[in-house]
Amino acid sequence: MGSGKEQIFAGIPAAPGVSFGKVHIHIENDLYIPHYLVDKGDDEEEIKRFELALLKTRHEILEIRNQVADRLGEEEAQIFDAHLLILEDPALIDETVKEVHSSLRNVEYSFHKISQKYIEAFQCINDEFIRERLNDIKDVSRRILYNLAGEKLETLESIDSEQIIVAHDFSPSDAAVIPTEFLQGFITEAGSRTSHVVIMAKAASVPAVVGVHDLLNELKNGDDIIVDGYEGVIIIHPSEDTLFRYGETKKQHDTEELGFLRVADKPAITTDGIHVEIMANIEGNNEIPGVLETGSDGIGLYRTEYLFLKSGGFPSEEVQFKAYKEVVEALGDSLTILRTYDLGGDKVLLRKDLVGREDNPYLGCRAIRFSLLYPEVFKDQLRAMLRASAFGNLKIMFPMISSLEELQEANQLLEEVKNELSKKKIKFNESIEVGIMIEIPSAVAICDILAKHCDFFSVGTNDLMQYMFAVDRGNDRVAHLYQPGNPGFLRVLRQIVDSSNAANQPVSICGELAGDLEFVPLLIGLGMKTLSVPPNFVPSIKYLVRQLSLEESEALTTEVMALHDAEPIIEKLKAFYDSKH
Ligand code: PEP
Ligand code: MG
Repeated sequence: MGSGKEQIFAGIPAAPGVSFGKVHIHIENDLYIPHYLVDKGDDEEEIKRFELALLKTRHEILEIRNQVADRLGEEEAQIFDAHLLILEDPALIDETVKEVHSSLRNVEYSFHKISQKYIEAFQCINDEFIRERLNDIKDVSRRILYNLAGEKLETLESIDSEQIIVAHDFSPSDAAVIPTEFLQGFITEAGSRTSHVVIMAKAASVPAVVGVHDLLNELKNGDDIIVDGYEGVIIIHPSEDTLFRYGETKKQHDTEELGFLRVADKPAITTDGIHVEIMANIEGNNEIPGVLETGSDGIGLYRTEYLFLKSGGFPSEEVQFKAYKEVVEALGDSLTILRTYDLGGDKVLLRKDLVGREDNPYLGCRAIRFSLLYPEVFKDQLRAMLRASAFGNLKIMFPMISSLEELQEANQLLEEVKNELSKKKIKFNESIEVGIMIEIPSAVAICDILAKHCDFFSVGTNDLMQYMFAVDRGNDRVAHLYQPGNPGFLRVLRQIVDSSNAANQPVSICGELAGDLEFVPLLIGLGMKTLSVPPNFVPSIKYLVRQLSLEESEALTTEVMALHDAEPIIEKLKAFYDSKH
């Protein structure tokens, strides 16, 4: 099939599924700035080109402004008014015109020179407002340069036909804007199983394979490709035989899925009568139908930062309130756990200025640290969550707690917001429960202390492994060390369950490990009674739980915990799962 020779690449299987489609290569836009002299007299032509580019840029910005106003409201759209003003800024525009006339250089070069000077001058000023403005200037300048080059500034938002997206790496905000109806799969050269792009792939029910080295050299847009998210295999220009084989594999998996779906509305009860709650992890309200259709027992993790990543800025309290109210109302009596922003790390991009440049973003101003640094942003979010709590079953969760002081500070701000709302007689659930993510080793060590200051724990294995093993969760070069079968990690999980039980503190698990079928018996054997997984994973997990007994899961766990290496541990878990499958 196709024009080239079939080529097979191996990567890390990250999100299940098989897709066959056309390649769309995503490259971070990096514009070439041409540089040449123009003849005296031709400088007027350059100015005309500049004026046309400015006009085009104005239209584009106005169009985006209108779209944002429709989607998110007038307040959110106002940042684009600042962009429009930049188009009239004499220091940028008039200076460029002067530069073209005096230097007789082409307008791209002249404009780039002036805008760089402007940006550099601003960069030295340590003021939050100025830094925000700097980002606006960079954004608008980039747009003008693209229009001068006659190129369209391409984002994944503009995809309008089914494609398999291939990139060296994605930022979460790259991935967040892709229209999911056209998304057939993700492939990255970098990344590991818990990269955020993988979380997005699972949410969209498409396959993902990461860590496929040197793939881009072999590809061009429009190539035929198969992405096998079960085995971690990529096939370029698949032959007819290969396509037939994959067609069969897909059919087999689809039939299996249908079997799982038959138990979707049944509870996940083990053969010896233990109920395991299977909840859903979501990144936006567009996933609510999936949560309801797959029989999830509620939402165990709503990653609210995606509201930010999708809109490129902080949604107002009102926009958040509407989103949170909609989800709790849709869930009825079932629980929704809203996690406060987990921004920072790699979840930044458009407002990098707020976090500032960090050498180690995962160890930097991320999640609760970010929220505590910007209490007004945090309080807006808490106010929206509290107001939504009057409309359904809602709990709040703080990410990345590493110490008691942090938890107390967050609790204190929550109290302040509650008092403000009470004074204004605005309704909310006064006894709303507040939980924390256990995802930093220091929090594991003080679970007993933290339990006295919150109502529940949820274990974030994605980050817990990252911080325990000192392995960047998105770095494919060290992905082999990011090993949940490591006995050290299993001991830590046991420690969390034991401390939680001793403190009578409910504990669940919401990292990707909870959705790994081979690990589920072990997690149940360790004593986990609530698992939170991507919505489309719920039926298969329910199906498996209904085949297990707690007794045999505990026996398996005891056996596995006595082993010293990850490899035999994984083998045992695999063999056990195969015996149930
Ligand atoms: C985790 O760390 O396991 C988790 C669930 O949170 P996130 O993947 O959003 O960091
Ligand atoms: Mg986390």
